[in-house]
Amino acid sequence: MLDSTLCNWLDTHAEELDSGICDPQQVLCKLAKAEVLRVGISPHLGGTGRNLADAVELLATVASHSMTAAFVLWGQRTFIEYVLKSSNFALRERLLPSLLDGKLAGATGLSNAIKFISGIEALQLRGSVSERGWALNGGLQWVTNLRRSGFVVAVAVEDERSGKPFIMAVPSSSIGLNRSDDLQLLGLQSSNTAALEFAQVDVGRDWLLHEDAAVFLPSVRPGFLGLQCGLSIGLARRALKEVEIHLRHDRSILIEPLLAQRSKLEDMVGELKAGLLDGRFRVQPAALFCLRIALAQSAADAVQLELQASGGKAYLTKHGCGFARRWRESAFIPIVTPTLVQLRYELDRQQSCG
Ligand SMILES: Cc1cc2nc3c(=O)[nH]c(=O)nc-3n(C[C@H](O)[C@H](O)[C@H](O)COP(=O)(O)OP(=O)(O)OC[C@H]3O[C@@H](n4cnc5c(N)ncnc54)[C@H](O)[C@@H]3O)c2cc1C
Repeated sequence: MLDSTLCNWLDTHAEELDSGICDPQQVLCKLAKAEVLRVGISPHLGGTGRNLADAVELLATVASHSMTAAFVLWGQRTFIEYVLKSSNFALRERLLPSLLDGKLAGATGLSNAIKFISGIEALQLRGSVSERGWALNGGLQWVTNLRRSGFVVAVAVEDERSGKPFIMAVPSSSIGLNRSDDLQLLGLQSSNTAALEFAQVDVGRDWLLHEDAAVFLPSVRPGFLGLQCGLSIGLARRALKEVEIHLRHDRSILIEPLLAQRSKLEDMVGELKAGLLDGRFRVQPAALFCLRIALAQSAADAVQLELQASGGKAYLTKHGCGFARRWRESAFIPIVTPTLVQLRYELDRQQSCG
């Protein structure tokens, strides 16, 4: 259950979060205050217990109110997963308390790395060995949750000498790290999304998350993708709820597709949670890829059905702003990494290998 103060704040500010009128600095503080960052993390590490499936459920609930807030939550929570999965316990001890209470923003700049392990693009950051650790050079086109008051970002780096990729956490205070102005977006504008440039950024070995990206990325993938599925689930549930409200007055012809879509969606949610809990996605990533594709389709179908249930009213700015936002939010689902195109490419590749 989501804290009612947070629910009300999200409902009141959903449009402003999407259009960028809402101060992006606030989002993480509100999420932290409602304790949503701690769900699915053991109490002895500072969490409130429960499991990853509960964290997905919570993320879906936030997404049903605001995709911007949910994506910020995804960035923060996924970064926390990296820290939890890292064997650098000193780094975990150093960062975890401030990540969990929202004082430090955690950002995940690993789209490039995910494309890299699928053979789609080269790594965009290179590291040469320095006295303390590595000097990093290169850039990332997109990263969310780059809070102006300070952040730490996870990146994949190609070692210039060995060619081997590794995963670092880089603090925003690093000299030579440059955050661009916020990118101007179709929606999700209050998400602190910007580009990063690295010019001889000297980062010590004590910021190493994992020395081998090829081992680390598959180990964090179920959390990364599972939490991301929460975005589709929340949007689909909300759009279907809106359909139900419209059908109380009119268009009963749509009752059947509403019930069919809802039942299919909840079956997939059950499958996702079961797979996250029994660990099957670690050995069968294709099953998770298929679910991510199908859930994205569910979100798109649900928003389409909301449009049909609403009719022309949806096109009037006076009545349709919630729908218009969900329409824009739905455009984000297929293009967030791993994009639907990347997933199809990966499934195709695995089929030709198997
Ligand atoms: C709102 C938002 C937030 C995001 N947050 C994150 C994040 O936190 N971490 C993360 O790692 N990734 C983030 N991404 C990136 C996302 O996950 C995908 O990698 C991105 O959408 C590109 O997907 P693609 O592979 O389909 O496109 P690509 O194949 O990468 O690009 C398609 C074409 O568009 C061009 N292009 C792509 N991006 C840009 C850009 N920014 N400026 C100019 N040209 C561009 C490419 O050069 C190419 O020609 C975010 C994207 C969006 C829209």
